[in-house]
Amino acid sequence: MNTQPSESRKQRAARRAGEFPPAPEPLAVPVFDSHTHLDITVHEQGVPGGGDDPVEALITAAAKVGVDRLVQVGVDVASSRWGAALAARHPSVLATVALHPNEAPTLPDLDEALREIETLAAEPRVRGLGETGLDTFRTGEAGRPAQERSFRAHIAIAKRYGKPLIIHDRDAHQDVLRVLDEEGAPDTVVLHCFSGDAEFAAECVRRGYLLSFAGTVTFASAGDLRAAAVLTPPEQMLVETDAPYLTPVPHRGRPNASYLIPVTVRALAEVTGRDLDALCAAISANGERVFGPWR
Ligand SMILES: [Zn+2]
Ligand SMILES: [Zn+2]
Repeated sequence: MNTQPSESRKQRAARRAGEFPPAPEPLAVPVFDSHTHLDITVHEQGVPGGGDDPVEALITAAAKVGVDRLVQVGVDVASSRWGAALAARHPSVLATVALHPNEAPTLPDLDEALREIETLAAEPRVRGLGETGLDTFRTGEAGRPAQERSFRAHIAIAKRYGKPLIIHDRDAHQDVLRVLDEEGAPDTVVLHCFSGDAEFAAECVRRGYLLSFAGTVTFASAGDLRAAAVLTPPEQMLVETDAPYLTPVPHRGRPNASYLIPVTVRALAEVTGRDLDALCAAISANGERVFGPWR
């Protein structure tokens, strides 16, 4: 006789909420994930289906649905170092390195950390500086001077190495543009998890920046974001997960990973009225142009 109490419906729902969603239908034309945090995903969520090499499992799961390349994004010295090492040995991974705008103000020695980032920026498979930028949502007044100083330093490093700048902009659109204007923007600027409206998108497009759309574009409340996507030309559009965060509809509340990119890119094709295969081809070409070849 089974003496274990059976799992209640509520318990089962709670357990499933933490599980990775099922894999979507594969894409016909491969695309890449312009912004993911494999280290944070593995640390916080484990790995879909278990296994003893969780990072490899996440990369393989993505490749199976046509997401055959990804950009691993650093948020502090340790994660930047980790990403650079992964990219150096993995043909499907390129890395970017940075101190996250919410991280920079908390560091005991910002200058020393920036020196470490600059050293990593020289590595051949480190293809960008990011994520850096401004976040007035999570960093209060006291942290803002250090946050802005760090952003300015990342802009300078990106220009010294001729590498793209990957910007995190949360509730700081105009200040991000102000700092870019004051410093002089690098040749290539990517706004990761683009969160502006049509007007801000138009300004970024005019400046030649790339707009990277995340799962947020599928959220019911994201009308402004969809309007922004509509006026972003395909040659300035990227798609990302920001995994493990920002899981697209209909999987909100569950962890995100690069294998869910097809959900977001299909939504982007629908919203913009573009052909899915053509959009994937354009985004792939943007990736090779912006970050350089993976292989
Ligand atoms: Zn971010
Ligand atoms: Zn991120």
